[in-house]
Amino acid sequence: MIELDVSRIKNIPGGKEHFLKDFEMRPIDTGIEEIFFNKPVALDLTILNNDGLLNLTGKLEGNVRLACSRCLEFFDMLVFAEMEEVYYNESQNNDLSADDGGEWISFKGDKLDITTEVVKSLLYALPMKLVCRQDCRGLCQNCGVNLNASCCHCPKEETDIRLQVLKQLLEEKE
Ligand SMILES: [Zn+2]
Ligand SMILES: [Zn+2]
Repeated sequence: MIELDVSRIKNIPGGKEHFLKDFEMRPIDTGIEEIFFNKPVALDLTILNNDGLLNLTGKLEGNVRLACSRCLEFFDMLVFAEMEEVYYNESQNNDLSADDGGEWISFKGDKLDITTEVVKSLLYALPMKLVCRQDCRGLCQNCGVNLNASCCHCPKEETDIRLQVLKQLLEEKE
């Protein structure tokens, strides 16, 4: 759990605190794959008390290890993410309607638990295609050999997915 102590500034409008911290992260299971952390995630965050609301801004850097979606080999990647969140004190802002606080995150006590927001920011910062390198050749569909490391003697198949779909459509027509 990633927590920031805001006891010094939570009651002082205009109060500001800078957090420069490294946090150990547990692997994230996205349901599709697992993302491991080679190093603690480095956070560089500022929290400003804006009329009782805590505005968090800053950036984070993670060194992650994940499996290539083409060749399934593990590879490392640096991830940089920006964070921008607003937290409100549950015990102070009782008059906040749900509408006002739609985008805001509530907190209690002296600590902000920012774990969820950190995970979200990291996932959001990942590229759509998780490949070990742009020209990764992946695995042979037929024999499963890693085509980056060696080649095989399987008959060359048409790998362009668009052509495959087109072929299917044409076959269905006949
Ligand atoms: Zn790969
Ligand atoms: Zn093959």
